[in-house]
Amino acid sequence: MRILLRGVKPLGRAKRDILIEKGVISQVSSHIDSSYDKAFDLDGAVLLPSLVDLHSHTRQPGGDEQETLESFSRAAVHGGVTAAVSMPNTSPVVDSPSIVAWLVSESRKIGLVDILPAASITVGQQGRQLTEMAELKKAGAVAITEDGLAVEDSRLMRYALEYAKTVGLPVLLHCEDRRLSDGGAMNEGRVSLELGLRGIPEISETVGILRDLEIAAYVGARVHICHISLARSVAIISFYKKQFPGLISCETAPHYMIFSEEDVRGYSTNLKMNPPLRRDSDRKAIIKALKRQEIDCIATDHAPHTVWDKELEFSSAPFGIVGVETWLSSLIHYFVRPGILEWEDVVRLCCDNPRRILGLPVVRLEEGSVADLVVIDPDSEWQVDEETLFSRSKNSPFLGQRLKGKILLTIKSGRIVYSDY
Ligand SMILES: [Zn+2]
Repeated sequence: MRILLRGVKPLGRAKRDILIEKGVISQVSSHIDSSYDKAFDLDGAVLLPSLVDLHSHTRQPGGDEQETLESFSRAAVHGGVTAAVSMPNTSPVVDSPSIVAWLVSESRKIGLVDILPAASITVGQQGRQLTEMAELKKAGAVAITEDGLAVEDSRLMRYALEYAKTVGLPVLLHCEDRRLSDGGAMNEGRVSLELGLRGIPEISETVGILRDLEIAAYVGARVHICHISLARSVAIISFYKKQFPGLISCETAPHYMIFSEEDVRGYSTNLKMNPPLRRDSDRKAIIKALKRQEIDCIATDHAPHTVWDKELEFSSAPFGIVGVETWLSSLIHYFVRPGILEWEDVVRLCCDNPRRILGLPVVRLEEGSVADLVVIDPDSEWQVDEETLFSRSKNSPFLGQRLKGKILLTIKSGRIVYSDY
């Protein structure tokens, strides 16, 4: 199948025709005459590498009411994503080679996105016994993580990082001192006091990061810090990165760039996540750190929850929001269009660095590169609502909102996996 993309702007630059054959970009030119099977006139739409999400809760096995691998896959390609790391806090937990192998084969059967399983650090995420990381890797696990929880026992954490280093698996760290945050629903501070909600203090995140980085540095293990939400977290991570180059990477999520604790005043449970939305000064510091390359990636922390779960009052509702479908659009709407981020920033943060962290080849918009691509119309907008989201869960903070930046095509290995052309 030869696909011709006419008049796209790679990275928002000059218009080009792009020919895709046998899964790769075979020709890039100002005008292509070659024969093709299917052509798209895309007149000035922007072409980027497809996105890779380092942090998605795909929920299966066990969480079918919230999401299935199938509904997740449809949501992901709707968001321009062709690969996503699935988090292991499912039921049962992804702690055995057979579950990892099942995830890999189901994702292949669906055939839309590569679901890349992360396995848990401890058996059943019980924090007592390490998983068989070598076997998990053989079965297809791309990383290990205890996400959703943290490994409380520091000695076990040390052994986990030593084992992961030997096996050569990256460790995705959910850094939290749970005794400090337990029972909290939002950021601890003036707003939580005013709202009468129990707070999650900054130190539950920073103490968690400090401990984990000290152990990682001591062991020399490759670690990636998940979902940082604080200016102080950036400062701590930068301090360690300077001393231990190449060992540490980190991510934030779009919601920490767009919202702050002030937005929780409406008590919408679609603004309840862990770590919580922080102060506006943290939000601004996170954006600066992304520009300065102190934060390596943006990941979604896509966390589907059913309507009846999220309809609980704020203090008892579960943490997390869906995000894989609004990821790219929200970045375009809030940051690229206003000139805060460049297309190159988006590609570094959402495409190239996530691939590097996973050891996947980086997609180049040039001849010979694998055709994992997304085509976006940055000027057209779409309405985020229960009908337009493909995810089985609708717990999005953007519900009812129109976002500029509409995905027209998602292409994986030269195959169209999503089209709104
Ligand atoms: Zn987490």
